[in-house]
Amino acid sequence: MMIVAQGLAQTFSSAGRPLTVLKDIDLRVEPQGFVAIVGPSGSGKTTLLGLLAGLDRPSAGSVTLDGQNLNHLSEDQRARFRAENVGFVFQTFQLIPTLTALENVLVPIELRGAMRDGGSARAEQRAVQLLGRVGLADRIHHYPAQLSGGEQQRVAIARAFAGDPKILFADEPTGNLDADTGHAVIDLLVELNREARATLVLVTHDPELARRARRVIRLSGGRIVSDTPTDPAS
Ligand code: ADP
Ligand code: MG
Repeated sequence: MMIVAQGLAQTFSSAGRPLTVLKDIDLRVEPQGFVAIVGPSGSGKTTLLGLLAGLDRPSAGSVTLDGQNLNHLSEDQRARFRAENVGFVFQTFQLIPTLTALENVLVPIELRGAMRDGGSARAEQRAVQLLGRVGLADRIHHYPAQLSGGEQQRVAIARAFAGDPKILFADEPTGNLDADTGHAVIDLLVELNREARATLVLVTHDPELARRARRVIRLSGGRIVSDTPTDPAS
C-alpha cells in the first residue's frame, strides 16, 4: 500500500493548554516500502504511527492509504478499513486479557470474515503456525497475564500478521526481546515485506532492525529532521 501524509499535525490539550506534538509532517512511502522511524523519547513516533494507521485523527492534514483519504471515512469505516488492510503492533501490546494467546491471534482473522464457510479450522491452523514462528508453540493456551513481556510482544506480532495486512505498523517490535527472539521477529518482518509484499513502517531503537529497513526517518520535537536511504550493501 502507498502511504501519503500531507501537512500532518497533532495537538493535544494538556492542563487546558494546547501541546503540539507533531507538526508539518509530509511523507510518502511507496508500496512495499520498508521504513524505520527513529528519534528520542517524546519526539512523536508513536503519535505518528497512530495517525498513519488511522487509529487516531490528526488535528490538521491528511493520511491517504492507496488513494483512500482517511479523513473521508467515519469511525466505523476506518475500523473496517483497518481490519481489512492494516496490522498494528502496539508498544504496550494491547492484548485482550480474557483471551488466550491463540484466541488473541484469531481476532483479526475473525474480523476479516475468514471463519465463515468452514474456514475456522484453517484459521486456527494459521494462528498456531504464526505462534510457532514467534517461538510460542508451547504457550498457545496461556492468557496474557501468564506470559512474560517478551512473550506478550510476540503474541502481539503474531496477531498483527494474522489478518495478512497489506501494511504493517509496529511500535518498537523488538523492544522486549532477547537477541535470538529478536532475530526471529526481524526475519518474519523482512519476509512479510518481501514475500507478502506488505508495506512496513516500524518505530525502533534496535540498530539491527533499522539497518534492515530501506529508509530511516528521524523525528525530533515532532518534526522530520532527516530521511535517509540505508546502504543496501550493509
Ligand atoms: P514517542 O513515541 O516518540 O516517545 P509519543 O508520540 O508517544 O512519543 O509522544 C509525543 C509527545 O506527546 C510526548 O510528549 C507525550 O507526552 C505527548 N502525548 C502523547 N499522547 C498524548 C495524549 N493523548 N495527550 C497528551 N499528550 C500526549
Ligand atoms: Mg513511543
